Amino acid sequence: MLPPLTRHHWIFDLDGTLTVAVHDFPAMRRRLGIPGHVDIIDWIDTRGAAEAARLHRALDAIEHEYASLARAAEGMPELLAALETAGCRLGLLTRNTREVAGQVLRRLGVDRHFAEEALFGRHEAPPKPRPDGISRLLQHWQAEAGDTVMVGDHLHDLLSGRAAGTATVLISPGDPPPDWRIHIDCHFGSPGQLLAGWLAARPPT
Ligand SMILES: [Mg+2]
Repeated sequence: MLPPLTRHHWIFDLDGTLTVAVHDFPAMRRRLGIPGHVDIIDWIDTRGAAEAARLHRALDAIEHEYASLARAAEGMPELLAALETAGCRLGLLTRNTREVAGQVLRRLGVDRHFAEEALFGRHEAPPKPRPDGISRLLQHWQAEAGDTVMVGDHLHDLLSGRAAGTATVLISPGDPPPDWRIHIDCHFGSPGQLLAGWLAARPPT
C-alpha cells in the first residue's frame, strides 16, 4: 500500500472541497419543507416515489442556483493540473448531481481534468457515506483502493473513503471535530496546501 500522497487515483468531493462552500443547508431544508438537522437526501429517499421525485427536482433547482455562485477553492486549479500532469487519474464523487457538477467544473474552467464517466453524482451511485461510488470508480479504472485517495471536506467523504479502503484527505481550514480524527490520514487547509504537501511527498525525479 502506497503512502497517501504518492497514490495515483484521486477522487474529489465537489462542494466545499474544490469550491468555496456556499450551501446554506438550514435554508435548503426550509425551502424543501424538510425538518431541521436531518440528512436531506436520506430524508427525501424515505418519501413515497412521487414525493421523492418532486423533492429531488426541487433540490436540483436549488443546486443549480448554488452552482451559479461557485468559486474555486484556493489552489484548486493548480492542484488538479499538477496531478493530471503527473499522470494521476481524477474522479469526482458528489452528493450533488452529475449535471450540476459538470456545470460547476465548466464554470471554474477545470472540466477538462475529469472524464464524463469519472463524474459520479447522487443519481449514479448511492450517496456518501456509502462507498458505492468509490467502488464503481475503482472498477471503471481497474484500480486498487490502496492506490487511491478520497479527498473531501465532510465526515461523509472520510467515511466513504474508509469504507472503500482508500486513503482519506480532509480539506478544511479549521480543526476537525475530535470524532472525525480517526478517519483522517492527512489534513490540509486548502487544495493549495494539499498541492504543497503532495509536491513535498513526491519521490525525487
Ligand atoms: Mg463537500
